[in-house]
Amino acid sequence: MYKVCKWLLIIWTAVCLVWLLAAMVSVSKSISPGASEAEKTGAGLGLFVAMGTVVVVWFFPAVGLGILALVGKRHSATKDEQQPKLCRNCGKYYAGSPSYCPNCGHAIDGSNQSS
Ligand SMILES: [Zn+2]
Repeated sequence: MYKVCKWLLIIWTAVCLVWLLAAMVSVSKSISPGASEAEKTGAGLGLFVAMGTVVVVWFFPAVGLGILALVGKRHSATKDEQQPKLCRNCGKYYAGSPSYCPNCGHAIDGSNQSS
């Protein structure tokens, strides 16, 4: 999951960079040598809006994927530690792998961990 998110993030960033370059090229082509100041200003404004759009469109999926990647990484790293286990004595869940149940102090049989 973490690796998939990381690659999606990289691909998504690359796609947006290409998109941004394409927008720059199309705007620079639209400015003819004999263009008036107003036309140049309009083209510059268009480029600014295009860049802003690309950044905004890139930002939200990138942040979402980044969070997913972080959560996925943390989750996979501590999966065994965070898996709640059920105490056979008191019937309550506990985290980690303690020798005694934190709820009732009942000794936990290590051989039965892999249910
Ligand atoms: Zn217990």
